[in-house]
Amino acid sequence: MAVKITDICIACGACIDECPVEAIVDDDDNPTGEDIYYVYADKCVECVGHHDEPACAAACPTEGCIVWSDLADGQPNRDEIGADLRKGDTPCVE
Ligand code: SF4
Ligand code: SF4
Repeated sequence: MAVKITDICIACGACIDECPVEAIVDDDDNPTGEDIYYVYADKCVECVGHHDEPACAAACPTEGCIVWSDLADGQPNRDEIGADLRKGDTPCVE
């Protein structure tokens, strides 16, 4: 049970402070060496017990950047997250 950040990530940083369990690290600390943010699968709880939906995905401005496949009970899938939170390729930095 964990979300994953894909290579669509623009490293804007919007997600990292939203994670209640500090599962997200920035591109400098990505253990795979990729220049994107990274979610530690052994830490991510898909926000169960913290939020009604994965907080990182709700904060992310980049559509399709954060994905998950193993749905926890009661959590919506990403298609049910408010579309108004996702504005296509609009970056979250000015
Ligand atoms: S789904 Fe929740 S627990 Fe998992 S990385 Fe995102 S904010 Fe953190
Ligand atoms: S909010 Fe989305 S685009 Fe920004 S760093 Fe996190 S995963 Fe990447």
